Amino acid sequence: MSDYLVKLASQPTLRNVIKSVGLPTPVGLSRGGKQYADQPLAGLQVLVGTVTDGVVAKAVRADLDAAGATLAAQAADGAKYNGLVLDATDMEGIDGLKHLYSFFHPVMRQIAPNGRVVVLASEPAEGATPQAVATARATEGFVRSVGKEIGKRGATANLIHVAKGAEDRLAAPLRFFLSGHSAYVDAQPVHVSAVVSAPSSVPLSGVLKGKVALVTGGARGIGAATAERLAAEGAHVVCLDIPADEETLNTTVAKIGGAALPMDITDPDAPQKIATYFKEQHGGVDIVVHNAGVTRDKTLANMKEHLWDMVLSINLGAILAIDEVLLGDKIINDGGRIVCLSSIGGIAGNMGQTNYGATKAGLIGYVAAQSGEQAGRGITVNAVAPGFIETRMTAEMPFMIREAGRRMNSLSQGGQPEDVAELIKFLTTPGAVGITGQTIRVCGQSLIGA
Ligand code: NAD
Repeated sequence: MSDYLVKLASQPTLRNVIKSVGLPTPVGLSRGGKQYADQPLAGLQVLVGTVTDGVVAKAVRADLDAAGATLAAQAADGAKYNGLVLDATDMEGIDGLKHLYSFFHPVMRQIAPNGRVVVLASEPAEGATPQAVATARATEGFVRSVGKEIGKRGATANLIHVAKGAEDRLAAPLRFFLSGHSAYVDAQPVHVSAVVSAPSSVPLSGVLKGKVALVTGGARGIGAATAERLAAEGAHVVCLDIPADEETLNTTVAKIGGAALPMDITDPDAPQKIATYFKEQHGGVDIVVHNAGVTRDKTLANMKEHLWDMVLSINLGAILAIDEVLLGDKIINDGGRIVCLSSIGGIAGNMGQTNYGATKAGLIGYVAAQSGEQAGRGITVNAVAPGFIETRMTAEMPFMIREAGRRMNSLSQGGQPEDVAELIKFLTTPGAVGITGQTIRVCGQSLIGA
């Protein structure tokens, strides 16, 4: 669904009219292509700042250089930057936080439209003292606030906490957060660790060649967009959806050259049927995206028991049952990736969504716990939590509620299914091996639950 305000505000004369009546003037987001380029940051001016020029700063410079960015070490008057990156991992003590001010203050007006701010900080959980933890954690409030200041330009700010020993796992996260692939991911603290075992070098483009993926609810919406992105990167994608939607499912699958698996995930035989399918057809599966989900909204007082049961079983019960078999029988290969679709409704709760909110919060707990169990096999388990995304689900909302949902974020617009698909794809790549057990929002820094 298209956003009329983004279209109108892209015309300079109308932009001023819209501004004068007090409406937001969202900047059209510039998004990455369907496939990762070898040098996704080519042509981008990136200013890099450091505190002590330590091991992380060196890795960052090498990674950005390899990704094609033009690096500047010192700010130049009047220059416009597509990216500002500060390595603050060596920042010490509360006085050390002054580095955040000293680096960013002089260049805040020089962030280009659709620009990117990325701060790298130490891992708070590794802080040796309460003061060290406070310093590491302070970066979160800083980055979230910067996000709110630059969102009007279509620009985003994100934070990467780097655990010790994970410095060589930054290349893919930097490519993602500094490029158009992360257009709607804003103000997220992401933790990169060495917890999950991985091969010594990982490919950064053509990254899913030879991989087999399952996307549930893949007929339409976010699932179809995800299937398309995974296939564009080289994966063979199997889209699963309910038999009643077989026609739409076949159309989606035909577009990407994948395979269709018409099935209801709540069918008690579904876990075993899925396991048998992948074992027989492909010898296993590398990527599982648990995307199928439904809403059946009613206030708790008015909610019929069957609506509670239905949402709980599709959005949570079926996912856990499928994983139990796919992981238990080692159908998911070593080095695999699991991504669950949570929601900001699972973080903040929503009126009329006690059933939905419970399932989406359950998934946040699930990925955190399951990730620990699977780390030894090189498998990562994460969730993404979309905010307001322009899909069939949100198109059905009454106009005023839809407008409020669209505008209540730093970018003043809704996201597209492709934006969610980009985050999911990133998490399925070999380069995202440092990220596990986390729930990352793709919500343009929505005010809800922030
Ligand atoms: P959608 O309704 O467009 O697509 C969901 C798909 O899941 C459909 O094709 C449907 O047939 C399938 N499905 C439902 N029940 C199934 C079952 N029992 N077995 C197999 N397939 C089943 O929804 P969407 O907007 O693309 O949402 C996808 C996911 O993202 C959902 O989990 C949703 O909760 C989550 N999400 C969406 C938004 C949003 O703004 N659209 C926001 C937050 C979270």
